[in-house]
This record gives sequence, structure tokens and C-alpha cells, in this order.
Amino acid sequence: MTVEIEVINHYPWLPSTKDVYSDILPNNPIEFIKRLFEKYPIDEIRGRILKIFGAAFENKEEIMNYKIDELNVLLYLMLNILLTVLDDNAIANRVANLYSKVNYNELFIENDYILYKICEDLNLNVLYYQDPITYRVNITKNQREEIKTKFSIPFTNYLNLAASLRDDYRRLINNSLHDGQVYIQKKDLIRLLQEHVRKKLIPRLHSDKSTLKKLREQLLDICEFKEIYDKILEDWEHMKGDYEPVEFQWGEDIELAEISPPCLKMVLQKASDSQNLIHNERLFLVFLLHALKVPIEKIVKIFSTLPDFDRDKTLYQVNFALNKKYSPHKCATLKSLNLCMAEKYKDELCLKGYYSKTKEEQREINHPLTYIFVKQFRLSKNKNSDEMKKVKNE
Ligand code: SF4
Repeated sequence: MTVEIEVINHYPWLPSTKDVYSDILPNNPIEFIKRLFEKYPIDEIRGRILKIFGAAFENKEEIMNYKIDELNVLLYLMLNILLTVLDDNAIANRVANLYSKVNYNELFIENDYILYKICEDLNLNVLYYQDPITYRVNITKNQREEIKTKFSIPFTNYLNLAASLRDDYRRLINNSLHDGQVYIQKKDLIRLLQEHVRKKLIPRLHSDKSTLKKLREQLLDICEFKEIYDKILEDWEHMKGDYEPVEFQWGEDIELAEISPPCLKMVLQKASDSQNLIHNERLFLVFLLHALKVPIEKIVKIFSTLPDFDRDKTLYQVNFALNKKYSPHKCATLKSLNLCMAEKYKDELCLKGYYSKTKEEQREINHPLTYIFVKQFRLSKNKNSDEMKKVKNE
């Protein structure tokens, strides 16, 4: 064990948790949950677990009155069990995003040496320099600025941790690499740990659904567990509607989901499931939503479910794109970026095009906006003819 018990209570995802709490760790999740409810009052467990799920469902970035104690470790383990048996990617992503953000904030105010010990516990082979070392010198307009850090990490470990992060500045080419070590600022190191925490909470896909079903049934036989499980699902059903991307309207009576091309649907769905979006997906989404005149606060809300959401940064970028008046991507560009989903969704309009009465010819869909206009036209035509039929029948 490389860290103190207080650090483990604070960060229960550390490998040393196994050594410290070996007597209560869940070899068998059923036994673990039974013992948990024997040891701690149901009100305390329910209150703290529901607070985490509630904050995640409301897309908050903190957990109110977050406590750091032995129960914090046990609740983390219970959280893993709950996410496994809930078997819902959107819930798991949302909880993992929140939990990792809370840990980012906690790590950010952590003493540098403790941060190093945490990395050591994770076996990351991070090097710690008590006296910060200069790894780069920036010279701008005769001003010399030395960039220093106390941390470096072997590039293989850096690559493993940064693999799923999309920001350009995290690419190895944009970082200082000497003798196999990547020199890294504290906040960037913590961002890597945040991603580690997030990924650890997302359950692996269960290919064996019958084993999962059996585990769920056995756990639901424990009435305290069932009470919490049912309440989470009830809250999720209640909150879910708020986060569906179909909520915002465009034009009269027509929802965006009804008229979205597959490429847009796919990106909106990923955001709604709190999955990471790659850089090009983010740009495509912002430019297209701007072209559709979706209000800024609604665009920010769509981005707010992403794992690395930062409200100020998003607001700045969304406004920046609006002021620059960037044009949304054409189909040809989306195809070259592998973002065209026409084949995957077997979408007839994308694949076969549409008949233009004015041009008297079959035309291809060459822009997502064209798709939207055609769909909107067809939908409003159908609605009008339905209304005409109604009037005739009256
Ligand atoms: S054909 Fe165009 S509109 Fe349709 S999915 Fe592909 S990129 Fe999107």
C-alpha cells in the first residue's frame, strides 16, 4: 500500500482499497450488499446514493455534502454494483461523468505530493520533482517564459490514459517529450486521472445476459437494495424527458428529431448518452445548430452531458462559432470524416435523394440542411392535408 487510509477513503477507486478493505470487499456482491445494510443505516445509504444519482440525472457538476469516510468507499462499490445491474449506458455515463468531475475537483486541491502518491498507487510511474523543472521556454515579443512542472509520466502510460481524450492539446505531439517522459502540468495530469476514474465506473458490456439477470434478481430480493434500485429507475424515468434531444422545436410544430438526418441524429444521441464526441462531431453539431438558429443556451445544454463539459469554455466556443458565421459541413465533408450515417440508418432520403418539382428531376441530398428542408416540407404538407381532410369531414 502506498497511500494513507484517508486518501483511500477519499479516492476509493485506488488499487490499495483492496488491501485496506480486504475483509469487506465484495467477492460476492450479494453478501457485500447484505453486510452493508447490516452495518450502516438504510437512511444514510439511501440518502447518499440517491444524491449521487439525482445530481447525475440533473447533470450537475458536484455532489452536495460529499463525505469522505469509510462509507464513501463502500458506496463506491455499491455504485459499481448498481450500475452493473441497471445495465443502462446512459445512466452509467451520466453517473461516471459526475463522479469523475467531483474527483477532478477534489484532486485539484490536493497536495502535489499526495497526487504523486496517488499516481504511484495506480502504478503510473510518474516522476515527481520537488523543485519544479523547466521543460519548455516560450519566447513571445522578446518576453521569455519558462514553463515548469513537478510531474512527468512515461509516454506509454500517457498514451494509455489519454487514448479516449479528444482535446488537441492532449495529443502527444503537442506535449513536451524528453527521454520517454511526457512533462505535464498538474491540471493535465488530474484530467488524465479523471478519465481513468470515469472509465472505471462504466460497467463492461455483459455478453451473458442470463447471469446478469440472475444477479439482478438476487439483489432485488434484498428489500433495502430493491427500494433504492426502484427509486433510481423512477427518478430516471422522471428526469429522462428533460434530456431528450427532441425537446427543442424548430419551425412550427415540428421537432428537430423528426426532421434530423442520420448524421445529426447520431451525434445528438451520443451527446444524450453522455458519450465523448470527437472534435469534428462537436464542430458539426455547433455549426449545424447555429444554422438552424437553435438558441445558445439549448446548444450549451446539449453539450452539458459530455464527460469533459466545461460551461464557460463551451459558452465561449459556441459564441465564437456564431460570431465567425462558420458554415455547416456538407455531405461530402461529412462522408470524408466518416460522419455520414446514411448507410447505417438505411435512410431512404439520404440514399435515394428526392424529386424536385421545380427542376423536374431527381436530386441528391448533398447537405444536411437540404435534408432538413425536404423533411420539413414533407411533414408540413402531410399536416396540411390531414387538416384539410378533417375540415372536409366536419
Ligand atoms: S447523406 Fe448527408 S445528410 Fe444524409 S447522413 Fe450522410 S451526411 Fe448526413
